[in-house]
Amino acid sequence: MGSALRKSKAVRQAPDGGPERREPAEAAQKVQEGQREVTTETSHPVGFVQEKKTGHHEETLKTNTEGKAQKPLEMNSHTPVPRSYDYDLIIIGGGSGGLAAAKEAAKYEKKVLVLDFVKPTPLGNSWGLGGTCVNVGCIPKKLMHQAALLGQALQDARKFGWQFTEEVNHSWMTMTESVQNYIGSLNWGYRVALREKSVTYENAYGEFVGPHTVKATNRRGVEKLYTAERFLIATGERPRYLGIPGDREYCISSDDLFSLPYCPGKTLVVGASYVALECAGFLAGLGLDVTVMVRSILLRGFDQDIANKIGEYMEEHGVKFIREFVPIKVEQIEEGTPGILKVTAKSATGNEIIEAEYNTVLLAIGRDSCTRNIGLDKVGVKINEKTGKVPVNDEEQTNVPYIYAVGDILQGKLELTPVAIQAGRLLVRRLYAGATSKCDYVNVPTTVFTPLEYGACGYSEEAAMEKFGEENIEVYHSHFWPLEWTVPSRDNNKCYAKIICNIQDNERVIGFHVLGPNAGEVTQGFAAAMKCGMTKEQLDNTIGIHPVCAEVFTTLSVTKRSGESTLQAGC
Ligand code: FAD
Ligand code: NAP
Repeated sequence: MGSALRKSKAVRQAPDGGPERREPAEAAQKVQEGQREVTTETSHPVGFVQEKKTGHHEETLKTNTEGKAQKPLEMNSHTPVPRSYDYDLIIIGGGSGGLAAAKEAAKYEKKVLVLDFVKPTPLGNSWGLGGTCVNVGCIPKKLMHQAALLGQALQDARKFGWQFTEEVNHSWMTMTESVQNYIGSLNWGYRVALREKSVTYENAYGEFVGPHTVKATNRRGVEKLYTAERFLIATGERPRYLGIPGDREYCISSDDLFSLPYCPGKTLVVGASYVALECAGFLAGLGLDVTVMVRSILLRGFDQDIANKIGEYMEEHGVKFIREFVPIKVEQIEEGTPGILKVTAKSATGNEIIEAEYNTVLLAIGRDSCTRNIGLDKVGVKINEKTGKVPVNDEEQTNVPYIYAVGDILQGKLELTPVAIQAGRLLVRRLYAGATSKCDYVNVPTTVFTPLEYGACGYSEEAAMEKFGEENIEVYHSHFWPLEWTVPSRDNNKCYAKIICNIQDNERVIGFHVLGPNAGEVTQGFAAAMKCGMTKEQLDNTIGIHPVCAEVFTTLSVTKRSGESTLQAGC
């Protein structure tokens, strides 16, 4: 029934606060008056189908006889319930944020539809339910990083007495197959979990076509319309391309790498952030010839002291860096798996041109939000026209009150799986369970899984200096040598610990940085302590665990200001 009619039927309050009682005839007359006011029809009753007025009594009868009333009802496979939508919540995007929200909403017995659809990469790759993290992000990346670490462990093993024949080989195909099998099990697990929770899932592309209405288009091009009271957009991002000759034809992105059906061989990685350095790191760790082409700096936005130490370590472990160059052309010299590609690059600061041949070119130059082709203009959701990001308030609500957004597409928020999950869950609890907690985007810990892992939480040194002033921050730091690396006698004093404290606030720890093995495991607990307001004194009063890397944080005594040596010797 239409909203106009609903307006006319609003229950009036009696003076004592309860609903006003009326005699039936008087009530009917009031309803008719209300209808007349909003519909301008004089003959009653007035009919509505899917909020559309079909006309007064005679017209409605005629519409029905001609079968026209069925049309709006056939917009989808559900029989619409008058005065209700097909779903309480429709979620566009079945990745980290969308699935977390869907499963949470099901707990409160809400009727939920998840639409998830993967547009194939230019090379034709696509994948199953679960989004970026599961299929082409965190999961395959961390597993391949582990494959590389095992290669290092094999070398260390000899010093610990393990004996095996000299020749050690790595099979790209075995690794990829194992990783993809695991991902397949996760895809399946998500489908089962949704079914068990009675969440409807459609493998279809969702786009808004009008208020409270989306069109879902499946692989075969079949279209259906669905309505919902509320919507959640969690469409994530996809890799960006350079826009130069040959990029889409011959280059791959992280969306292709983890399922590449052949070893990539000599690889050029373009870009210098998370994705670029992590992929370059594990490819080199697997024994491949890897070059990273950097436009400006490593890991923009991260502590630059640490970013440079990561670069140095990678360089010492065989990764080559071409600094301040950008590709301008990629040509195929020879077809194959892999073939041979010629890359022409230009200096980012001058006119120098260089050329080199590689088997594979991996573009990792950032990701674009999937927000431009989902009909947001049709429902009036504003996006940042330049970045495609969606601005939301602190409750993940867009400028259109019934449409919410979480995850990578949010403007000014961190692009991390746990952030998308937390935001999605808390949003649903607020919508359906009367909760009030909001997602706290401050002090979110993160780890870069480069060969030497980097865990961070809070301010970088540069950002802290800018915010609080150099005189108001104290930086404590130390190099360290993991015990496990002493016997193989490698990488002495390459690991590094640093905390940044706010002098004006009782030396509260506002920045935590660790460069070393298992940095993510180390950082997680300290992030919880930072949430509780950890100070330097509390760290000093914490007794360390020996012999582990994390204990270094309980004994930090050298300030950066002092200029004293940070090299560690013995325990
Ligand atoms: P996604 O997980 O990307 O899900 C969006 C889903 O929506 C996708 O399945 C997409 O196909 C689908 N979709 C898009 N448009 C439509 C539409 N119109 N209709 C239907 N479906 C649609 N984060 C970490 O925390 N740790 C890591 O170690 C880490 N490693 C990463 C490594 C790589 C190589 C990459 C690329 C990312 C990594 N991330 C990591 C980031 C993490 O993957 C993302 O932050 C996270 O997946 C974002 O979740 P989301 O729900 O916003 O989007
Ligand atoms: P990003 O952080 O946006 O970095 C893009 C990189 O590509 C920068 O180094 C940039 O250089 C470079 N670049 C951009 N355009 C270029 C061009 N035209 N030519 C050459 N270089 C160019 O992107 P990302 O690494 O893809 O990561 C995306 C997001 O995914 C991250 O923000 C992160 O939150 C998430 N992620 C998380 C993890 C993790 O948690 N471990 C891992 C991977 C990704 P400039 O500095 O010069 O601009």
